[in-house]
Amino acid sequence: MTERQRDLFDRQPAAWQCDDAAEQLTATIVFVEGPEGEFDYVVPDRLADEIEVGKRVRVPLGRGNRAATGYCVRVEQKAAGGRKLKPVSGVVDSTRLLAPAMLRLTGWIAEHYLCPWGQVLDAVVPAGVRGQAGTRLTTLLSVAGDLQERVKDVKLAPKQAAVLKVLSAANEPMTITELGRAAGCTEAPITALRRKGLIRAEARRVQFTAMTEASAPRRGDLALNPDQKTALEAILAALQGRRHQTLLIHGVTGSGKTEVYIRAIQEVVGFGRQAIVLVPEISLTPQTVQRFRERFDHVAVLHSHLSDAERQWQWQRIAEGGVQVVVGARSAIFAPTPHLGLIVLDEEHESSFKQESAPRYHARDVAIARAEAEDVPLVLGSATPSLESWHRAQTGVYRLIDMPRRVLDRPLPAVGTIDLRTDDHARHSRGSISRHLHAAMHEALDRGGQVILLLNRRGFSTHIQCPSCGNVVRCPDCDIALTHHRSLDVALCHYCDHQIPTPSACPQCHFAGIRYSGTGTQRLEAEVRTRFPGVPCLRMDTDTMQGRGAHERALGAFREGRVRILLGTQMIAKGLDFPNVTLVGVINADTALHLPDFRAAERTFHLVTQVAGRTGRGEKGGRVLVQTLNPDHPAIQAAVHHDYQAFADGELPIRKMLSYPPFARMIRIVVRGQSEEAVARFAACLAEELTKTFQQAGGGERVLGPAPAPFSKLRGKYRFQIQMQGSDADRLRQAVREIGPRLKPPDDIQWIADVDPLDML
Ligand code: ADP
Ligand code: ZN
Repeated sequence: MTERQRDLFDRQPAAWQCDDAAEQLTATIVFVEGPEGEFDYVVPDRLADEIEVGKRVRVPLGRGNRAATGYCVRVEQKAAGGRKLKPVSGVVDSTRLLAPAMLRLTGWIAEHYLCPWGQVLDAVVPAGVRGQAGTRLTTLLSVAGDLQERVKDVKLAPKQAAVLKVLSAANEPMTITELGRAAGCTEAPITALRRKGLIRAEARRVQFTAMTEASAPRRGDLALNPDQKTALEAILAALQGRRHQTLLIHGVTGSGKTEVYIRAIQEVVGFGRQAIVLVPEISLTPQTVQRFRERFDHVAVLHSHLSDAERQWQWQRIAEGGVQVVVGARSAIFAPTPHLGLIVLDEEHESSFKQESAPRYHARDVAIARAEAEDVPLVLGSATPSLESWHRAQTGVYRLIDMPRRVLDRPLPAVGTIDLRTDDHARHSRGSISRHLHAAMHEALDRGGQVILLLNRRGFSTHIQCPSCGNVVRCPDCDIALTHHRSLDVALCHYCDHQIPTPSACPQCHFAGIRYSGTGTQRLEAEVRTRFPGVPCLRMDTDTMQGRGAHERALGAFREGRVRILLGTQMIAKGLDFPNVTLVGVINADTALHLPDFRAAERTFHLVTQVAGRTGRGEKGGRVLVQTLNPDHPAIQAAVHHDYQAFADGELPIRKMLSYPPFARMIRIVVRGQSEEAVARFAACLAEELTKTFQQAGGGERVLGPAPAPFSKLRGKYRFQIQMQGSDADRLRQAVREIGPRLKPPDDIQWIADVDPLDML
């Protein structure tokens, strides 16, 4: 029993303790809203059959015995041990919401991500499933099993006899309305028959919104090329081993990874099991979904736009084993497949696999935990694996599979850089498109091709960069680009709070025209329209892609050629397959490169490589032009040469030197509130307590900050951050658990802990 639980139960007089040893059926409950921890209740006899692990129950809570709902996480016979347990008042769900294995997985998430278990449970079971959306309870009628016996000694009115005849002839149970209609009678004779015990009634939950499964014309297998065969064989070997193993497929864009997944899943389906395929939400396009529907009879697609009823329906189908493949975004990792055989996580480097609200889980790490628990293989795929996964593959934790060539010997596109330092136009005008890129666009369009322009708006372009030599002012300790704060006239490190006065000339080449902000990317669309009048152009970013289907419509217009120039944020860099795109332009690679984020170089490499993968997919080939003030930066050079290995070899030593992941674990704490001063003060207390905790324990942990978060004010609240780094994630977690109860924030201040953070802004 936890301390907190002890407080909630009144201490009982000694008399209660007399039958300490007697065992009783006890349910352990976790609350969604209410106290954290696990609480025991006694199960009254009348609920003994109904209660089940994974269902919700109603229980009295606290001194006032207010009614509370919680998840039943354990049922067992045990001795009360001197406690007088309160009884469970009722069982909420008729069927369990989670199987025991999934329940254990949620427990792991709660531990790993420092999130109350109840909150994890609530996030994992969709609201539509909890509320059984799209279904209702109906009374279904059938004739009594011993009808022949019973009917002998009763007198039946003619109407009643008619009803019995209809119902006996029906193959399936009927509702009251259906039976009344079929027998041409009112409800009265039916009620009479029920009273006489000749008709049995049963309450059953039925679907009332009609749902149908989408399907697609069948398509046969492609003949695999040697790389694909090797990859498939490795997965099949893992499947046949019937043991958990994680395989990392490092396959360039267009190398045919999806085809390999499909073939492996066919094997899994062949022995009656199901597969889960996770893709980033943004690549959950009809194009992707279609490829699975063409090859499997029963595919469930889980995306964020499903209605509650649709989600509930899919969930039930999956739980009943009626689905072979679940394709979905992040949360599909919780799909209740009864006999999981394989998990595939494509584009494993994608940061959208991490949930940025509690529970702040990463689907990849949850997938590893689930695959381990269910003893099935996990396949991770990417053209640009995260350094975390790459490092694990290098150290033998994962099995590495290489697919270095595109299918059908299509070449990877040529990638060139445009050095903005020497482009007169870029140096002197406020425009975003260099003379060179402009000419290339003209050429591509003249030849009937299409153009993609990538602009990175996430960059808030407040790094300090010299337009003459490309130098960026960085923190000497963290290697993070310093951010210019106009109001204070300082340049500051968002990790350790290191500050210097804003330099008036480049510290490296002494050029006096050093700039405090990047190009005005929002004006790009206007610039394109001015430069290419009459050429249909479309902007794709979170602002223009709000409504349901907007994304699809935009891509549809581009696919059909009604749009010739597609410009947008990261959103367009991923997974699109348009053979007619012959030019990709990256407007400014430096905005991503100098974000105050230790993964900035990795992000830039991913972005340039992924967007480059959008071209050269057809016969016409294609090329990529990257505008930058840092053409020699290792991340950009590696992307230009399609050289992942070179990127990893250059970046990993830096990570190691500065104790960043994958060589250390991290927890990021963000404190926010209305008053900047109060937030700063509380953040300082937290940092101090954490430092003390680690000093006492004597480990090698580091506490950085507090410093203003890069987004130092969001939605009217000031934000400060603290970063904890260390080799042992459990020690970092333990420190947060310890200070939690000790340091209560003032009203109006909240703080969160993000374990294994990806968002550093
Ligand atoms: P990736 O997932 O690695 O980017 P895809 O699986 O999308 O690659 O394959 C790229 C394209 O090549 C798709 O249009 C796919 O249909 C096609 N493709 C895949 N494998 C083969 C093959 N063995 N023979 C011919 N075409 C293939
Ligand atoms: Zn620093």
